[in-house]
Amino acid sequence: MNKIKLEMIKQKALKDKIPIIMDDTLEVISKILIQTKPKNILEIGTAVGYSAICFSEYLQKNGKIDTIERDKERVKQARENIKKAEVEDKINIYEGDAVEILPALNQKYDIVFIDAAKGKYPFFLKQALRMATNGGIIIADNVLYKGYVMGDYNKHKQRTAVRNLREYIAEISNNTQLDTKILEVGDGLAISKVK
Ligand code: SAH
Ligand code: MG
Repeated sequence: MNKIKLEMIKQKALKDKIPIIMDDTLEVISKILIQTKPKNILEIGTAVGYSAICFSEYLQKNGKIDTIERDKERVKQARENIKKAEVEDKINIYEGDAVEILPALNQKYDIVFIDAAKGKYPFFLKQALRMATNGGIIIADNVLYKGYVMGDYNKHKQRTAVRNLREYIAEISNNTQLDTKILEVGDGLAISKVK
């Protein structure tokens, strides 16, 4: 991976206010990927491809990332960035709403990374559970949502997102098939290993 190209992609995304993965979050996920050496990764929420490009470095030989994005302009930028980073052979973008695309997928993934509409996290979890391999890991970003999720923010205008994030956390915590940890890195990271 060309570090300078990657840094340029990151700086442009930050300048454009694209909510790319935060450095401390990326560090935690990178460690998980080094340990698990995934063959297949599913990402929900590509944005401009930054996280997928970072993850692609840790794939097994011939491994692949499928990533989903509904914003046309971001898909276009993601394709350009993926080309610049020379990882076109490792990353496949599905353009469209993950709510429609996920039910049509029928593959197994060692890692599922949820990083899209917060109000859909419980639905994304159902789909992730269906497609995660045994021993696979479901990772969700932004689960603490600026502290709203743990605080008393029921009146906040983002209350649908908050309610659904709370439901997500409750489900991963109560599901006996999962071994879950929630870390206060970045905007809150949930890591659930499928037993
Ligand atoms: N993973 C990226 C950041 C993703 S930001 C990175 O770290 O580099 C979240 C993205 O999810 C946004 O680009 C948004 O357009 C997309 N998104 C939100 N809800 C979605 C949905 N239901 N289907 C597909 N994409 C969605
Ligand atoms: Mg995020």
